[in-house]
This record gives sequence, C-alpha cells and structure tokens, in this order.
Amino acid sequence: MLHDAHVHIECDALVDEMKLHQIEAIANASNLKEYQNLKKLKKRWDHLSISAGIHPWNTDRMNFEDMEAVLEEALIIGEIGLDDVWCQCDVNRQKQIFEQQLAYASQTHKPVILHLKGMEKEALSFLKKYPNHYLVHWYSCNEYLKNYIDLDCYFTIGPSIGIDEAVNQVACQIPLNRMLIETDGINAAAWADGKPKTVKDYSNILIRSIEEIVRIRNIETETLQAQLQKNFHQFLSYTKSSQ
Ligand SMILES: [Zn+2]
Repeated sequence: MLHDAHVHIECDALVDEMKLHQIEAIANASNLKEYQNLKKLKKRWDHLSISAGIHPWNTDRMNFEDMEAVLEEALIIGEIGLDDVWCQCDVNRQKQIFEQQLAYASQTHKPVILHLKGMEKEALSFLKKYPNHYLVHWYSCNEYLKNYIDLDCYFTIGPSIGIDEAVNQVACQIPLNRMLIETDGINAAAWADGKPKTVKDYSNILIRSIEEIVRIRNIETETLQAQLQKNFHQFLSYTKSSQ
C-alpha cells in the first residue's frame, strides 16, 4: 500500500484513484463545505482520514469560531500554520488564529499538521508552548530543521524532492521513523515539477518520491515502504487518544 499523509482533493475522482491503487491518505479540509464533502467521500474509500483547520492563507476571511464545530468533530487538526511568503494575510492575525487552534488541539489531544513558510523560527516557540504530536508538511526551509527534529515532529517529504535542495535535506536528515510522504494534491504536485498532471498521475507522484528517498537514503524500496506504512499508522494512532 502507498500512503499520502497530506492531500487536497480538488476533484472527487481522486478518491477512486486512491481506491484503485490502495492508497491510504489524510485529506485536508479548510472549511465546512470541504469537510462535509470529505465525509461523503470517506464512504467511498474508508482509508481516507480527514484533517481540518484554518489555513494561514484564509486568516483574513475566517475566525476560529467559523471552524470550531468542524474542529470539534475532526480527529486531526490542520493544515494550520504561519506563512509570510505565499500570502499577504496580516502576520499578527495569523499568529492569533494559529495559537487558538494549537491550544485547542493540545487541550483535546488531537495531532496537528503544520504549514510553515518563511516563519519557521517564529512557529517553534508556539510548538514548545503547546506540546503535541506534530507533522510538518513539505518542510522546505534551509534552517531550523534540527529544532523540529528535536521536537520529535513527523515530516512529510514534499513532491519537489529531487528538485528542491531544501526538501532533499529533509529527506536526508530526519529520522526514518518520523518520515512520511505526501502529494499535497494534484495541483501542488504539478506546481512542484512544472509539469501538468491529472488524477491518473496520482500514484506515480508518490512512487517517484519513494524512488528519490531510496536513492538519497540508500535503502531498499521494501524497507522504506514498510517504514512509511508504520509511520503513517503511528501518526493516525494519536487520534485515538482524542476520542
Ligand atoms: Zn496542503
């Protein structure tokens, strides 16, 4: 089986690809409508887990209260985070909503998926304040990686592996028992290598990442796949304590 630890379902047919290729995934909901759609899609493929949270890019148009009911129901909080590179949202507002969600996740013992861009240093102090199980999605910063490793975070290797040196460094340096892979959805994967993609390319995005990690870490494909499966289930197991 393949495991996609962070995906956006931009087209419902992607779930049929997951089923066809037996891909377990954590799909992201950034609002109530997406969350309701994912719950419906989960009926088609039960190995679909759902994370929900206010994305930093949406902090100019959403309040914590807008997502509170969804956060209560969701077993994984995310993606949430801080980003002063790819969005113009006020940084103080981002920090406020990030902290509200971190506090909520910590209180309710729900694991968290993080989106960090340009504010990796600032985010560390928040994570230290709210101990939890964290998964850092597509880390692509040349600094502070060691700090996140020291916090025992999980990491998803982004689909730009082999292209982005910062992502290669993550694949090279993190402990194997904290490694996961992700597509971030078809559009993000297409952005990563500049090549148009359809849902039919979905499984190959994950397979290519595995091949790159095998090369970088010099391990057997089967060994890596078994480890990725174990890590994925381990991360999901943290949702049990929230029930
Ligand atoms: Zn994402």
